[in-house]
Amino acid sequence: MVWFPGEKMSDYNTDTENIQIVVLMGGLGTRLKEFTKECPKPLVDVEGRPFFDYSLKLLMHHGFRKFLFLIGYRAEMIEEYYGDGSRLGISITYCYDGKELLGTGGAVKRAYDLLEDDFLLMYGDSFMDIDYEETVYRYFEGKQRGMKALMTVLKNGNRFDKSNVIMNGREIELYDKRDIKPEMDYIDYGVCMYSKELFEDDYLESILSGGKEREQTDGKTVLKFDIAVLQKQLSLDKKITAHIVTKRFYEIGSPESLNEFRSYVKHRFNESHPAVFIDRDGVLNEIVFNDDTEQMDSPQKLSEFKPFPEAEDALRRIKEKGYYVFLATNQPGAAKGKSSLKTLYDINTLFAEQLSDKGIDIDGIFMCPHYPKMSEYTKEKFLIKTCDCRKPKPGLLLKPKDICNIDYDNSYMIGDSFTDIVAGQAAGVKTVYIGELKCDACKKLCDIDPDHIVHNVSEAADIIPDRNQAVIR
Ligand SMILES: [Mg+2]
Repeated sequence: MVWFPGEKMSDYNTDTENIQIVVLMGGLGTRLKEFTKECPKPLVDVEGRPFFDYSLKLLMHHGFRKFLFLIGYRAEMIEEYYGDGSRLGISITYCYDGKELLGTGGAVKRAYDLLEDDFLLMYGDSFMDIDYEETVYRYFEGKQRGMKALMTVLKNGNRFDKSNVIMNGREIELYDKRDIKPEMDYIDYGVCMYSKELFEDDYLESILSGGKEREQTDGKTVLKFDIAVLQKQLSLDKKITAHIVTKRFYEIGSPESLNEFRSYVKHRFNESHPAVFIDRDGVLNEIVFNDDTEQMDSPQKLSEFKPFPEAEDALRRIKEKGYYVFLATNQPGAAKGKSSLKTLYDINTLFAEQLSDKGIDIDGIFMCPHYPKMSEYTKEKFLIKTCDCRKPKPGLLLKPKDICNIDYDNSYMIGDSFTDIVAGQAAGVKTVYIGELKCDACKKLCDIDPDHIVHNVSEAADIIPDRNQAVIR
């Protein structure tokens, strides 16, 4: 996509529409025998829909339109159900596993001719709710630094499975799922991006050991290997960058995890729950003095990000009162050339990880990185646009609308700027203004009339009613 006439496309691409999603769907589902006797795992019923419908809905919400399904067990059922995707406005291509299981790496290699130059690989039995635009951006940003792949990682502490990643700052030091080391505290989350060149014969043969992965099947020579072998090698070669995520994943590998996902689906998609949308800067963290502009500004560096002492407790209380918590933040710093989008993402990740360490899981961070006007300092020109998400427009608040069943009538927006209040009103939620409406003229001009005015986020948390009590009533 060309953003401006005559301009070369930026290599920093956040456009998910053109990214191919490759989904590993060939597994036998042996641990789910009672459910997979008749159908493949992606089609196992969850609250009246095939499991993979939930993932597909999420992926389409993030803008993806091109899919390649790698199918094996009961393959024809998957193809029959999803068809070529045109019913859903997407395109789906299929690659059938042969008679023999080739492992995750072998299955991707078999589909080599159908792969695009850069693609995202995921599993058909997992539900992974992450910021996929960030994944795609970080992958292409990494390519600028010579990376060939990206792995999403989660600080795990052996919560879900054995940790298998050592991080060095925000980059991967080592990935190894076979030789677990005590210093591993992150886990491979299950979403990766790759350059197609990694699946060329010469490269794969150079990293696979001594030919035992070669097999003759269906009259063709194929490679049989676990993609973990490639991932480990890329980590040793420092060719795989990271996207750190903080929300847990769901999978349906066992009857227990399937049940867990069923409860999650009921809560998220079937029942309606209210949300609290919270502006970030000036509400949850300090705004800082910017030496260059000589004005108070949002943090543009990791070291400038300082959460208010009351923020953690306020967020915890709001979550405990039965609300989704979403941050809704305008961050035009990269568009204005004061920062990079990578740094803006890093600041959000830092905050989400700090909160997660304290047991507070934010349900989403919605950031508008756009700005309508280019400045002489702008580097990431794709951020210059008139968007629907920059507050006072309500786009950030409406973002989760079709992937979460939100009770907007009982939801709130908390912010310290009139743009927060206007955005909240446009989205149809109640509004809480932090600060003092000193300027009567401004108030009249903007015609804002927040439902509540408080001094800080702690007071905002106080006035938000407890939904758990409302339910018991
Ligand atoms: Mg603010």
